[in-house]
Amino acid sequence: MGIEVFFAKDELKQKAYCLICHEHLSVMKEYNIRRHYETNHAPIYSKYTGKLREDKVESLKRTLQIQQGLIKKNFENNENVTRAGYEITKIISQHGKPFSDGMYIKNCIIEAVNCLCPLNSSLFDGISLSASSVSRRTEELGKNIYLQICEKTSNMLWYSLALDESVDISGTSQLLIFIRGVDENISITEELASVCSIHGTTTGKDIFDELEQTISDYNLEWEKLSCVTIDGAKNMAGSKKV
Ligand SMILES: [Zn+2]
Repeated sequence: MGIEVFFAKDELKQKAYCLICHEHLSVMKEYNIRRHYETNHAPIYSKYTGKLREDKVESLKRTLQIQQGLIKKNFENNENVTRAGYEITKIISQHGKPFSDGMYIKNCIIEAVNCLCPLNSSLFDGISLSASSVSRRTEELGKNIYLQICEKTSNMLWYSLALDESVDISGTSQLLIFIRGVDENISITEELASVCSIHGTTTGKDIFDELEQTISDYNLEWEKLSCVTIDGAKNMAGSKKV
């Protein structure tokens, strides 16, 4: 493959690439490549011989390399822009801020970029921080964390649950359920497994139901539950698993 048929290997797509008509051949066999050249390009390109042919192939290859370099750079930029969106979403969630704050954060970023490095502004402009994007990503991050915890809980030999009541920034009471467990390598995992809002009066049964739901959500086995610690949810003592 090469100079006599005007083909190069497209490293990105792992295919044979015609330098003349930019077509990709999925079969990288000598026969297919030669036939492509003979049928489509030989009548015109057979006039290039010797050094002239070498130069022609070289210049076409350089164009291909520049194009591929740009594609690769674009791809990396896209990936980084997406990553930036997730990192900012994480900060919004960690601070318990509304999803709609994404747009105001983006305005701040754009203003700073325009002052400091205006040539890169289009890159920053690509970070999607609309309320719906932030909301979707938060859900994805939550699912991902849930799956990570599930993987750990599936290996637990024993676990205990700790219930705690806390008040969030909007003044609503939240029941937090933490799980702590140990696997066969004596590696201890401690994670916040569930958060549920408590409105008005909460009975021991409500709390027990939430606990039961958490155990079911994480596919935990009751037999491996070694202890339940309760703080601010003392009523639960009256309920038991039936
Ligand atoms: Zn071609």
